[in-house]
Amino acid sequence: MGLDLERSAQLLERGCRRLPGGVNSPVRAYRGVGGTPPFIIRGDGCRVVDEDGNHFVDLVLSYGPLILGHGHPDVVAAVKDALERGTAFGAPTEAEIRLAEAISERVPSVEMVRLVNSGTEATMSALRLARAATERDGFVKFNGCYHGHGDAFLVKAGSGALTFGAPDSPGVPESVVRDTLVAEFNDLDSVRRHFDARGSEIAAIFVEPVAGNMGCVLPQPGFLEGLRELCDDHGALLVFDEVMTGFRVARGGYQEICGVRPDLTTLGKVIGGGLPVGAYGGRKDLMEQVSPAGEVYQAGTLSGNPLAVAAGLAALEALDRPGAYDALEDAGAQLQSGLEHILDETSTPGCVNRQGSMLCLYFSERPVSSFQDVLDSDRARFTPFFHHLLEHGVLLPPSPFEAWFLSRAHDTEALDEVLDGARSALTG
Ligand SMILES: *Cc1c(COP(=O)(O)O)cnc(C)c1O
Repeated sequence: MGLDLERSAQLLERGCRRLPGGVNSPVRAYRGVGGTPPFIIRGDGCRVVDEDGNHFVDLVLSYGPLILGHGHPDVVAAVKDALERGTAFGAPTEAEIRLAEAISERVPSVEMVRLVNSGTEATMSALRLARAATERDGFVKFNGCYHGHGDAFLVKAGSGALTFGAPDSPGVPESVVRDTLVAEFNDLDSVRRHFDARGSEIAAIFVEPVAGNMGCVLPQPGFLEGLRELCDDHGALLVFDEVMTGFRVARGGYQEICGVRPDLTTLGKVIGGGLPVGAYGGRKDLMEQVSPAGEVYQAGTLSGNPLAVAAGLAALEALDRPGAYDALEDAGAQLQSGLEHILDETSTPGCVNRQGSMLCLYFSERPVSSFQDVLDSDRARFTPFFHHLLEHGVLLPPSPFEAWFLSRAHDTEALDEVLDGARSALTG
């Protein structure tokens, strides 16, 4: 049909000769939906332009980081300023302390923090710390939750709730995931069973407080509170992976909304302002066990990188403008109600799950509150929907498992374009 992706197709072919799948992160290759991924040359606000000159309203936003949109002037100015003073020193800088202070001020459970370069690094390091602090090896994660590609986290659920994990990827030794226990999101009993069986061996529960790597699944009332209680009863640590939700769903992350205080928190995405940053932090007595204050080793040549820290600080400060989160909520609510209206109008079975400016449309007959509900939704319907929107100038994440994101730059005009695309996709 209409969309010319000729140059992108050529680039994909060329890229495949030197890069596995032509990309540096798998989802970008569009294997799930087929077709050619647009190669992007420029982003501006809520829009991107590809090599063939196609313009898109961007709901990918680099999979979450760009909460201010592309090329926000404050972020650009902060990076330029830092760039002129030097890109890396391998020495401490004041800006790192300022970012740490900015994080603690917004997320009070994070009394101390260590900056790293990605969400993956943050969760791997938090797991090491949790294991060291509790002198236990086991940990619980949830089916369908993603915590980066660290070996221990690459586990899908076995058949029974008590089965030990089996690796999700070749190259992950069984021995590394032996202590990864998989439970079901929004199912406290599935967690309790692990604690009943091995409570004294479990170092931590890792959870995305809003599950954003199976679309957008909200925690049911009492679920996160129940996890807190199980951890307290068994001397385990509660780790909120807020790499996606941190500074996105609220100034203080989802923990501000739910009122449950984790022992450790992992952050990424938004705190880098679009540059590579991750962080883990939490209780002072735990973080003081991290090297060189303590003995838990973790290091990084470019950690706390001046450009990335400057971008992150500028982004957090821009989000402090009055009404920033209200505006994000309004944009999310507008898109959600528009989509719900279209589902209704076109008699399409579906639902929209949303927390603030992250959301997901499921083609499902029933509400989606578990990983099983996600699997049971009509995922095959997503592919034609996705391609229709792409041709309509709307860039969605190329998978029914990915959340859609909005930024401060998404105005009513852009949202209307998304809704027009969705309406014609579901009418046609
Ligand atoms: C994106 C994400 C990660 C991994 O972060 P990377 O920067 O891609 O390594 C970890 N946890 C959650 C919840 C995420 O959404």
